[in-house]
Amino acid sequence: MKIAFLGLGIMGSRMARRLLDAGHELRVYNRSANSDLEALASKGATACESPALAVAGCELIITMLSNPEAVKAVARGETGLLSNATRGGVWMDCSTVDPEFSRDMAAEAERAGLQFLDCPVAGSKIPAENGELIFLMGGPAEALERVKPVVEVLSRKAVHCGENGSGSSMKLVVNFMLAQSVLAAAESVRLGKSLGLGESDLLDTLLATPVAAPILQGLRPRFEGKDTEVHFPLKHMLKDLKLARQSLGNAAIMPLLDAGIGIYEATLDDNQDQDFSRVYGR
Ligand code: NAP
Repeated sequence: MKIAFLGLGIMGSRMARRLLDAGHELRVYNRSANSDLEALASKGATACESPALAVAGCELIITMLSNPEAVKAVARGETGLLSNATRGGVWMDCSTVDPEFSRDMAAEAERAGLQFLDCPVAGSKIPAENGELIFLMGGPAEALERVKPVVEVLSRKAVHCGENGSGSSMKLVVNFMLAQSVLAAAESVRLGKSLGLGESDLLDTLLATPVAAPILQGLRPRFEGKDTEVHFPLKHMLKDLKLARQSLGNAAIMPLLDAGIGIYEATLDDNQDQDFSRVYGR
């Protein structure tokens, strides 16, 4: 399939690489030049200077961008993807955004003759590399069917959550739970240490019980400082919690969500380049 892939950050670069390796014809765009763009071009992808150029003649457009502002920047305007998309194509937005924004993009896509799917993913850098993401998809079943061969290259599971916006809603729920699981682990260990227990014993015991979220086992090397890479930037987790709050409105009572926003915000450092697991050690 001829695919335009826009946004080659931590996740997008790895997803694009898998599609290329699977034999798809790829046109790629990233706002700034980076080594992933060059690496993909050297493997046969066509590097393009604007979103509009990237989508030329493509049946499928995939965006994997930071936040709603980034998606707007890539979608709209003279050089935006909507200005030059092939009518009858599909746009999958894999960025984590809020459901209202996804519905707005679906309406804009429809005016440009495209079917739109909100397709945020669960799973981080390594699952993206290995094609083991979980796709949370919102939009028409017929569009889902059309993109199935591509989704299969990238994922181990695809969930159809409902109409446009429902994939984004589900993603905000999943990340709220993830954010809280790490905070709960951090405070549990802090409690145990202050009662005189050792950190390794605490982690060994907590992770062997059903009370710990399964993901914590995989995060343990990050908690213990053995893996210092950025897998999921903390700034994106904070963005997701804020989008959840914004989507709910201020009247909804969600004390854990508000506490989480405060803690992740306080942990974000000046260069904004740290993994979300950093909240464990604060
Ligand atoms: P990332 O490494 O920070 O990459 C962000 C991408 O967005 C880059 O290509 C960046 O371009 C682009 N971008 C940002 N602002 C832009 C703008 N104004 N105009 C055009 N392009 C812009 O992020 P990521 O980790 O790949 O995550 C991408 C999305 O997936 C986010 O919504 C994130 O919440 C979600 N997600 C991430 C993970 C994870 O574990 N990392 C897991 C699931 C979901 P430049 O290179 O030019 O900055």
